[in-house]
Amino acid sequence: MRYWVPSHDVPTDKATAEIKICVPDSMRAVSFGDWSEIDNPEKGLKEYHFEMNYPIAPYLIALSSGPFEFFEDVYQSVDGRQIPLYYFALKPDVQKAQNDWSIIPEMMRFMEDLFGPYPFDHYGMVEIPRQTGAMEHQTMTTISDNLVTGDGRYTGIILHELAHQWWGNWVTLSDWKEIWLNEGFASYCEVLWSEWKYGKKHKQQYLDYFANSYFTEVNRRGEFPVYDPDYRWGGTIYHKGAWILHMLRRKVGDDSFFSTMNRYGQLYAYGNSTISDFKAVAEGVSGKDLDLFFDQWIYDSGIPKLQVSWDYEYSNNQYAVFLQINQTQDTRAVFTVPLDIELLTDTGDSLSFALELTQRKESFRLNSPDRPAELLIDPELWLLKKAAIVSQPLPDGFLANRPALSHGFPNPFNPLRQKVKMVYKVQAEQAPVKVRLAIYDRAGRLCKTLVEEKLLNGIYRVAWDGRDEQGLFVASGVYFTQMIINGAQLNNKILVIH
Ligand SMILES: [Zn+2]
Repeated sequence: MRYWVPSHDVPTDKATAEIKICVPDSMRAVSFGDWSEIDNPEKGLKEYHFEMNYPIAPYLIALSSGPFEFFEDVYQSVDGRQIPLYYFALKPDVQKAQNDWSIIPEMMRFMEDLFGPYPFDHYGMVEIPRQTGAMEHQTMTTISDNLVTGDGRYTGIILHELAHQWWGNWVTLSDWKEIWLNEGFASYCEVLWSEWKYGKKHKQQYLDYFANSYFTEVNRRGEFPVYDPDYRWGGTIYHKGAWILHMLRRKVGDDSFFSTMNRYGQLYAYGNSTISDFKAVAEGVSGKDLDLFFDQWIYDSGIPKLQVSWDYEYSNNQYAVFLQINQTQDTRAVFTVPLDIELLTDTGDSLSFALELTQRKESFRLNSPDRPAELLIDPELWLLKKAAIVSQPLPDGFLANRPALSHGFPNPFNPLRQKVKMVYKVQAEQAPVKVRLAIYDRAGRLCKTLVEEKLLNGIYRVAWDGRDEQGLFVASGVYFTQMIINGAQLNNKILVIH
């Protein structure tokens, strides 16, 4: 902005603003707020007058001019206001823009329900050729033409820029070192939207995608803190940043989390804030001390890297499960974090445990009434981490120096809800060796071949989804697993119940 208009171009110098511009009358000018037009102030020209009556930071001011097609919509705010939605698309893309942007009223309702009334009196989008990305200019988001596709592919970006009207424009960071307050927040709104609009599974895919984006950036640029970052526009700020809010939500609970966001918005409305301000609000609302949370996630770098080993033994009519968790990250000695564990048993039940990790190396003992079959780490995705199971118990008979095939678990199993899993051991003097593992029905007919290949000695896992070679679910009843290796044959039974 400073190159076009003399301005004190820092985010803390907010002011109301006005723009007057003349353009050739074949063009339109587009900027913030509402506008008025004067035709023919001089021959062949048109004059536009824009007014922003709310405080605006210089970086949120933009002016576009071009042969735009204009269309509009209106949104009825939760507080009763009619919010005009002004859209400007390039001629060839009008239909695509209408498709892609028609979701905006629904998004505004979603945002208002979570964070309070839309903080301005207008909103809109303007399509710009040959740019990359999008930018949340106050009340008028600028979006590149390659993000206007007509098939809703970039809905996440449209939501992200809208979310900035609250987090970035209404409440604005004070210092670019704290860009997390803008980008982490808008990115987490994408996750919340995906959860609200498409459900839990979609939310988890979004969180996975964000985690991978963060890991990709770490591979390129290394680990650095979210505060005063080495790079502001990548996976650390946007996607680890979103995860940090997700983990804060877990730490303080949904009620406190959303109350914090609302209170923070009210306190810093139309002004500027800092990370310490946000932390103070979260502490006040939740009653929790968040020093350690902010230290490890905002001011320090990295994530927990967990190595998990587990085993169990039977005693006193139950199974005692022993869990060893080592933190191996080199960014800091210890992360203090919650960790959910789900234990699947061979009856198909599952047990949940909420652990709190506080040490570099820790052991836990859990109890299960049934024989443990599988351990899942953080199944609901509440912790940004890397975790690997480095050792786990083997089924009975796997220690002897010969091939082995475990019972299926869970057993009985319902193909509509789960898969049945098996562990098998390849052991031959001459390896690789041909191994065949297949499912047969009671009449001895082949249902499905699961494994048919040459394998090295070792322990392998395989799952069956209850479908036959044609992809159809098999009927309820008894089935047999058969493994053939080196002329030897191992068998087990599986009960399928729909
Ligand atoms: Zn953004």
